[in-house]
Amino acid sequence: MIQNVIVLGAGSAGLIAALSIKRKIPQLRVRVVRSPDIGVIGVGEGTTPNFPRHIFDFLGISRKRFYELAEPTWKLGIRFLWGERGRFDYTFAPQLDVHFGDLPRPNGFYCDDEFSNVDLTSALMREGKAFGRQQNGAPDIQPWHAFHIENKLFVDMLEIVAREAGVQFIDGRVTGSERNEKGITAVHLEDGQKLEGDFFIDSSGFRSELLGKTLEEPFINFDKTLFCDRAVIGGWERTDEPILPYTTAEQMDAGWAWQIEHERHINRGYVYSSQAISDDQAAEEFLRKNPKAPQSPRVVKFRSGCYRRMWVDNVVAIGNAGGFVEPLEATALMIVCSHCQTLVDFLLHSELEPTDSFRTLYNDLTHATWTDIRDFLGLHYKANTALDTPFWKHCRADTDLSGIQALIDFYEENGPTGFCRYRIPSTQNDFGIEGYFVMLVGNRWPHRKPHKAMAGEKAAWERHRSANIAAARKGIDVKEALSYVNHPGWQWNSDMQKKQMAGV
Ligand SMILES: Cc1cc2nc3c(=O)[nH]c(=O)nc-3n(C[C@H](O)[C@H](O)[C@H](O)COP(=O)(O)OP(=O)(O)OC[C@H]3O[C@@H](n4cnc5c(N)ncnc54)[C@H](O)[C@@H]3O)c2cc1C
Repeated sequence: MIQNVIVLGAGSAGLIAALSIKRKIPQLRVRVVRSPDIGVIGVGEGTTPNFPRHIFDFLGISRKRFYELAEPTWKLGIRFLWGERGRFDYTFAPQLDVHFGDLPRPNGFYCDDEFSNVDLTSALMREGKAFGRQQNGAPDIQPWHAFHIENKLFVDMLEIVAREAGVQFIDGRVTGSERNEKGITAVHLEDGQKLEGDFFIDSSGFRSELLGKTLEEPFINFDKTLFCDRAVIGGWERTDEPILPYTTAEQMDAGWAWQIEHERHINRGYVYSSQAISDDQAAEEFLRKNPKAPQSPRVVKFRSGCYRRMWVDNVVAIGNAGGFVEPLEATALMIVCSHCQTLVDFLLHSELEPTDSFRTLYNDLTHATWTDIRDFLGLHYKANTALDTPFWKHCRADTDLSGIQALIDFYEENGPTGFCRYRIPSTQNDFGIEGYFVMLVGNRWPHRKPHKAMAGEKAAWERHRSANIAAARKGIDVKEALSYVNHPGWQWNSDMQKKQMAGV
């Protein structure tokens, strides 16, 4: 029976894993070993809605604390400066997988010409507002949001909470391990210490010290679907730019650029394919389009893919140690949270004695989350008909979407009907059929069922859009909303409810 868990790595993946396990299975001894010399990845991160659910509901961290220590801003979705339309918004609230009662067809059939202000959240994004406003002027904070966070602040907050929960920390660099027929039995540190454990989480980032290096699990490269393998990164201090309530993803000559919004600075980076352009060319294009970025942007190399199995013997990889894809949909922390919940469930249901069939099922489920993300991101590239650079021509011609061919065939024949959902892989990923619809409709992927709306229908559709715009114009922007929630007198109802339930 598992009793003694060692987590290798104290980036966001290792700390979310340690805290998830300790919170839900408190009888386990959980120790985190990490190397201060190696440090954490330290990038700005966008998240998806499963992130607040995990942080607040699963881990029980209070909103007050999270806002104080992690200093997040809100993310309502992603603005794509992308494709033939030049711009469309992917919100975390459903826009297209929706059917209004006064219209005969689902929303996606009304967006051929104009795809904007389809729901309140997309109208808020258009107006640069974060939330609607309550009668007393305060923000009406709805659950359809995620966050922008800075990795370092977030990791520092997690460490404080993890220590309080009883997780122990050891500083040191892991240089080797001991094994028996059941897996790893101990890791060795550079200073001679030996840490024994009966269950290991590998959260050592791209190094994948245990799963990749020690156990030599094969890596599955996604390079037939995703061609980018580098990023230049360079942000700047905010001056008079408004804090946008969304992440921006903007097409570039050989990839795309993100913009992530923090309260005091703007985080920008260009993800590109080194087959298409050199690092210098990428930096030149990035700086030309972003003159405020520092003159020597940092280059990060990565490979997109995941290990064949995330769980081998008594080692489970969480975070970049298990796989990585470019942050086009900011899916890394989504995967960390969802895999941690699955792992905790599996440990509990197997009464801390996981069987081979539990491990196999875990590997099947987690692998499906990775391939779903691979195909979803691949669709972003293949569907974009706007640019004719060699990179984009290559994407349209060669991106392998065989993993979602059944969805594409069904969509081409029937258009954006909700029945498409039965043709996508079944996973816990946040985007689901709504995400696929936004990409297909947003990029005007052709289908054979265009809907010719009658005049009355068109008027009803426009009434919905106008109502969204009118409501959004009364909304509150990020800066003002932050001044409310960061005020010492601000009370989070959900935090108070939790306290009441706990009798505090
Ligand atoms: C350019 C870029 C942009 C990104 N943008 C996003 C985004 O928008 N949204 C998102 O969700 N994700 C994003 N990510 C990914 C995200 O940052 C990570 O998935 C997430 O922070 C988890 O990182 P990690 O904990 O797996 O790894 P890391 O942060 O690298 O942590 C690894 C840990 O392992 C320790 N370690 C490693 N080797 C050893 C050793 N031998 N001995 C002891 N300790 C060791 C390190 O000290 C560290 O504590 C981005 C990544 C990149 C590269």
